[in-house]
Amino acid sequence: MAMRTIKNPMIQEAIIDWKEKKNKPVCAYLYDLKGLQEHVKNLSESLPHQCRLFYAVKANADIKILKALQPYVTGFEIASIGELNKVRSVSSTVPMIFGGPGKTDEELRVAITNDISFIHVESVFELQRLNWIAEQYKMVVPILLRVNLQTTVPEARLKMAGLPTQFGIDETQIPLAIQMTKEMKHVKLHGFHFHAMSNNLDEKQHVLFVKHCLEQTDKWEKEFAQCFSVVNVGGGVGIHYDHPDKRFDWESFNNQLQLILKQHAHPLWTVVFELGRYITAHHGYYATEILDIKKNYGKNFAVLRGGTHHLRLPAAWKMNHPFSIIPIEQWDYPFARFGITQDAVTIVGELCTPNDVLARDVFCPNVRVGDIVLFECAGAYGWDISHSQFLSHPYPEFIYLE
Ligand SMILES: *Cc1c(COP(=O)(O)O)cnc(C)c1O
Repeated sequence: MAMRTIKNPMIQEAIIDWKEKKNKPVCAYLYDLKGLQEHVKNLSESLPHQCRLFYAVKANADIKILKALQPYVTGFEIASIGELNKVRSVSSTVPMIFGGPGKTDEELRVAITNDISFIHVESVFELQRLNWIAEQYKMVVPILLRVNLQTTVPEARLKMAGLPTQFGIDETQIPLAIQMTKEMKHVKLHGFHFHAMSNNLDEKQHVLFVKHCLEQTDKWEKEFAQCFSVVNVGGGVGIHYDHPDKRFDWESFNNQLQLILKQHAHPLWTVVFELGRYITAHHGYYATEILDIKKNYGKNFAVLRGGTHHLRLPAAWKMNHPFSIIPIEQWDYPFARFGITQDAVTIVGELCTPNDVLARDVFCPNVRVGDIVLFECAGAYGWDISHSQFLSHPYPEFIYLE
């Protein structure tokens, strides 16, 4: 793997601007809100007419990101009261769907009294509990059953179905759950939620997955002589972290999707996508300055002002995070500047643990102390999943291009 060259000079300029204003080592997330809006607008507008695009808030719950996305999505997929409050602070009316395993009674109460469009029910016990709570409010709550399918896309990075996981209701138990909803007075079953994978990069497999979800829904419609209205196919569209110039081919996916919908979707169905990573990943960057460079036992290390406590994703996935170098010419010390030319460098953070590695043995033409490492594809599962308290270092700053 080699270091990358900077593709977007606007990002580089914004970071250098920031550096000139502040008198300390650069350590910041930068979100390109304008680019994000163009991207999500394209996604929304390109989807076939019976589809709706929701944003899965957990990928990046920054309020300014939610605000930027709100005009271009149908709504938000949330999994906690914290996420609910963030979405409601952006809009008092935007639709929300509420999911996730392990919902407390309080969460269910807050959800049903805050005008949630659908609750994704994750187990038979949760179904009974929700019906019981809704009865206390004399309400009928719209729900989808989350299905843990028996088969799913084999190449996806994280699989949540097709194998034993804590997610959803085992496909073989769905008929029992449907039967139970028929006898319940305080929930109304509208359809199914099939979110089953993460970071899938294969367009054809993703279409086949959607097809499978449609066929399953059709099967249960016939079996129970009941009309459903919503097929939620979840998220899971991926990012090529090892080749960030490559993209999941949305156009090709969409063309195939049109055909599948024509053949397999009933006219009254709405097909919901709740994408996280694919919406925000490419519009976030993490920039941090090199504080030190050293050679230990033959290996080069560049030590950053930041690290995996700000960007945990490469450590979590044991991968090299793609980056480029912003060269900084300013040098204020009265001695020679240290650097490495034409050699492999391991990029590490400031934490006191050998696990604080963001990229290993990456060939770099030239890196010096004081240059800035700019990590790309940091807009999803970046800051939000990081262990920011570890070692009590300062948080990164946040820069927004609007
Ligand atoms: C995480 C999650 C998503 C979003 O997944 P991405 O891989 O980021 O697209 C969608 N739905 C549910 C239920 C999730 O848990």
